[in-house]
Amino acid sequence: MPKTISRWKRTVMRKAQILTAIIALCAVSTAAMAQDTVAEEAAHRAELLAHLPADAAQRVFGGETTPAPGPAEAIGSYERGCLEGAAELPADGPNWQVMRPSRNRAWGHPALIRFIEQLAAKMPAAAGWPGLLIGDIAQPRGGPMLTGHGSHQIGLDADIWLTPMPDRRLSPSERDEMSATEVVAADRLHVDPGVWNPSYLKMYRAVASAPQVARIFVNPAIKRELCREAGADRAWLAKIRPWWGHDYHFHMRMACPPGEPLCHDQVPPPAGDGCGKELAWWFTPEALHPPPSHAKPLLVSNLPHACLAVAEAPSKTAVRNGAR
Ligand SMILES: [Zn+2]
Repeated sequence: MPKTISRWKRTVMRKAQILTAIIALCAVSTAAMAQDTVAEEAAHRAELLAHLPADAAQRVFGGETTPAPGPAEAIGSYERGCLEGAAELPADGPNWQVMRPSRNRAWGHPALIRFIEQLAAKMPAAAGWPGLLIGDIAQPRGGPMLTGHGSHQIGLDADIWLTPMPDRRLSPSERDEMSATEVVAADRLHVDPGVWNPSYLKMYRAVASAPQVARIFVNPAIKRELCREAGADRAWLAKIRPWWGHDYHFHMRMACPPGEPLCHDQVPPPAGDGCGKELAWWFTPEALHPPPSHAKPLLVSNLPHACLAVAEAPSKTAVRNGAR
C-alpha cells in the first residue's frame, strides 16, 4: 500500500511538473515580449491576427479600445476571464510613470489602480526608490492579450519594472522604446552582482507585505537571493513565487476584491517561506530548459459566460452619442 501511494504521489508530482513545463515556453516568450518596442509589438500582433480564428478571445478582447461600462467587476480567473468597469492608471503620478503607453494596457480593476497609486507613494520611504515604472496591467475589458501574457485577464495583475522610477519624466518615446533593468546574471542561476543592491529586497518586501497582494512572481534566481538576504522576518516570502522570466519586471497579483462573487481567487501559496526543496526544482535542467508549448488559443466561448456581454457592451462614449 505505501508503495502504491508513493507511486501515485510521484505520478501526481510528475504531472504537475509536466503541466508547469507545458506553460513554460509561453512564460519564456512572455519575458521577451515584455521588453518589445513599438515596432516589435506591432509585428507580433499582425502575425498573430493573420492566423487566429475569428472567435479567438485574444482577437476579440485585444481589439477593444474602451472599457465596458457598469460597476467594476472582475469576472473569472486570472488566466481565463474579463473585466467590467475598468479604470485607467494615469500615465503620470507623483510616484509612478506608465511604460509602453502605446499598448493601451494601463487598465485595471479600480481597486488595483488605487492600490498601485498608494503603493508607489510608499516607495521613497520603503525602498529609497522615487517611484515605480508600471508595465502591462490589463486591456480595457481585460481578457486574453494578443501578446505577452497568460494571465492579466481580470484587471488584478500588474507588471512592475525592475528599474526604479527616475527623478525626471520620461518622454512618450522613451517609455515605448527603452528597456527595463535585467537583474538576473547570464548564468540564470544568480542575480547580477553589478546590478542587484539592497533596495530590491526592501522593494519586494514592501509589496509582498501589503495584505491586498496575493502573489508576486519573480525569477527563481531573485527568489533565491531574497531567501538568502531576508533574515528572521520571512513570512512575506511565502507570496514571492518563482516563475520563468520575470528578470526585468515582477508581476504583482492582487486578491479578488470583497463582494465580487464571479471573481475566482487562486488557492493561497503553501505555508512557509518557499526557500527549500520547492525552490531547488527551479534550478534543475528540467526547469531551466522547458519543452516548447503547443497550447491552443482560448475562444470567447471558453471564457465565463458573462464575458460575452462585456465584449459586446457599447463603450461609454458610444452610449452618450446614442450609437454603437
Ligand atoms: Zn505579468
